[in-house]
Amino acid sequence: MRIFISFLIGVLLTLVTSAFAFFWAQRNQIEFRFSWPSSPERVSESSMTSTSDEAGTYAAIPDESAIPAPTRLEFLSGHLRQGGFLRGKAENLSAVLMNGETIPTLKDGGFFIGFDRDQAEAFELQMLSDVSETEISLKVAARDYVRGQVIEGLELDMISNARMGPLGHDDFLPTDEQIAADVANSSSLELSQVEQQRQIQTTKTERQQKDEALASRAEADGILQDWLLPMDPGFRISSQWGAGRVIRGENKIHYGLDMAAPTGTELRAPANGVITLAATGFYYDGGIVMIDHGLGLTSIYLHMSEVDVQKGDRVSAGQRLGAVGATGRATGPHLCWRLYWNSGAVKLDPAGLVKHEN
Ligand SMILES: [Zn+2]
Repeated sequence: MRIFISFLIGVLLTLVTSAFAFFWAQRNQIEFRFSWPSSPERVSESSMTSTSDEAGTYAAIPDESAIPAPTRLEFLSGHLRQGGFLRGKAENLSAVLMNGETIPTLKDGGFFIGFDRDQAEAFELQMLSDVSETEISLKVAARDYVRGQVIEGLELDMISNARMGPLGHDDFLPTDEQIAADVANSSSLELSQVEQQRQIQTTKTERQQKDEALASRAEADGILQDWLLPMDPGFRISSQWGAGRVIRGENKIHYGLDMAAPTGTELRAPANGVITLAATGFYYDGGIVMIDHGLGLTSIYLHMSEVDVQKGDRVSAGQRLGAVGATGRATGPHLCWRLYWNSGAVKLDPAGLVKHEN
């Protein structure tokens, strides 16, 4: 009897374990549709499996044929999850609206919508043409973010004194108060009052330059391209996008994907675009490049040791931008890669646009 009960328990345990393993595998290998126009006329589609260990969950993108007529959709693709995006192209498109707000579109009917880190789950997408109106309800999957990542070893003069709420704010566009506090804390530099005022003014000007770059709306098609990685494989992800960080006791959200690689590692444009900012020696960002890829989608490269492009340059996917460094607020050589949409109002996960290998 005792042997029989042990056997029964053994069988039950095996069943439960395999069921769990099966569902776990399903959860981490979610198939999602990915369609890509290989030429303006033709639309090729392929299904792919996400291989990233941070793959998480994606909400389903409806099949083009499931979109109610009469909108003629050429393609609809993306990552329906927080920090992700949706993009598409439709014939005779006159407007695209997300929750009733108009989204900018390309002349040829292409459009792009970005989802913030904390984007609510459901939204309404409307596609209008002169003769039709199509409305679909879509879902954005929630993500789990790394929390409480502690960053040690920052130079004292790079530590802010400003108090922040649970979500903190983004150093990339610091407030006046944060700039003043950071400069005042530059004890190692022992700046005079006059020098401090000059430094505060310079840092504010840097922020204005970044704001202006984010406001750019260049004609570029990078927004509809499949993106390349900005550097050769071999880097290490030293901080994930959207991670909650604690820097000297302060809570912040990290809106970059940190890719650690040796100083001098070549950085390249991931997609076509126009350079909207190229500078060195920024207080927080060091060497910085910003690219407008069209429709207000801006990719950002921080802490660079070399900047080899100039504002106004038109760059193609794969073109050299400069090199990895540890300039500005950085603890070691890495690229802080960021992706902002809608003048910085929406911050996206840059890895989401990079083409995954099957
Ligand atoms: Zn970063």
